[in-house]
Amino acid sequence: MTNDLALQILAACRHALPPARPLALHEPSLGDDERRLVDECIRSGWISTAGPYVERFERAIAAYTGSPHVVATVNGTSALHGALLALGVSRNDEVLVPSLTFVATANAIAYCGATPHFVDVDLATLGVDHRALEDHLQASAIRSASGLANRRTGQRIAALIVMHTFGHPANLEGLLEVAVRWGLPLVEDAAESLGSTYRGRQTGTLGRIGVLSFNGNKIVTTGGGGAILTSDPELGHRARHLCTTARVPAGVRFIHDEIGYNYRLPSLNAALGLAQLERLPQLLHAKRSLAARYAASFAECAGARLFSPPEDAHSNHWLNTLILDQAQADRLDEIVSVLNGDGIGVRPAWTPVHELAMYAEAPRANLDVTNGLARRIVNLPSSPALASNE
Ligand SMILES: *Cc1c(COP(=O)(O)O)cnc(C)c1O
Repeated sequence: MTNDLALQILAACRHALPPARPLALHEPSLGDDERRLVDECIRSGWISTAGPYVERFERAIAAYTGSPHVVATVNGTSALHGALLALGVSRNDEVLVPSLTFVATANAIAYCGATPHFVDVDLATLGVDHRALEDHLQASAIRSASGLANRRTGQRIAALIVMHTFGHPANLEGLLEVAVRWGLPLVEDAAESLGSTYRGRQTGTLGRIGVLSFNGNKIVTTGGGGAILTSDPELGHRARHLCTTARVPAGVRFIHDEIGYNYRLPSLNAALGLAQLERLPQLLHAKRSLAARYAASFAECAGARLFSPPEDAHSNHWLNTLILDQAQADRLDEIVSVLNGDGIGVRPAWTPVHELAMYAEAPRANLDVTNGLARRIVNLPSSPALASNE
């Protein structure tokens, strides 16, 4: 085996993947059932948000996840915004959030007029580090009659968002403990983790409220779409109201009793989602066998390791992830370019959100792990079709 890390990684990927090129990072898996249901939806005439498809889709998500209340939305970002509004996050609040996430998680906080307060992740899960969070709160938060506040800014800390990175469940037990101890509602950004379970329960259903995304690159897609999940009927009702333009029937008219949002999913997308949800067990199977194949191919790789989640979590393996050793961090761009040059669509992780210009002044904990990791992550092609037995 060659010592050159880029060539080693290239060889391992070639070994794990079918020969066709180019390979995208993630492509949807669509078939005849999707075509049939969308066609049926068009012929029914119910293509917008009214009609039976959205409700059927919401019931199917409820049945799959075990979440009693589900609101389907136009995308995952609007689901996050609706969930935070339903919790009462408002102007001048702060919301604890990992910096290692897609920008939408922080943007949804900003849409509420609130400020993201960035916290670090751990190497075992790539999700929020509950121990570091506890230490950070002890050092920088203060309890008052109106709840929790940031000692330095004086602003209320209104909620904690955790994200299940690349599909791998965060340490929910530890995080729920911290959330309860500090009186913070826990929001799960489960945009990437539909089908992942933590101690037997679906991610997105363990916190006060959870959010899914059905964007084109997620494990299940509706083209664009999202959902809010909660077991609290009042919170579910509040989220539904805010995402449905705050519409209240009043005789033959409607009134709108506050500023709401036109965030409900159209039927065409819901019809596509119904067919996709049916295929989720198959998609999960394909994802897990691809992950196993990568694990075998990278077993001997010196200089990088394939990320694998802890035992108590059952991941959907949405995106397979290679983590370069610390000493190899400066090889990241070269590795990405060598693999892309061979038609293997790998990509580095997001730029940590705290580094983006609009959040440069946002409050933050120590982010050493995030800063170190962000330069060492290579996401590998993970479309379900890449597992031959799909
Ligand atoms: C995909 C994603 C979202 C939501 O994205 P949409 O494109 O708006 O559906 C939110 N958070 C994370 C972590 C995501 O990966």
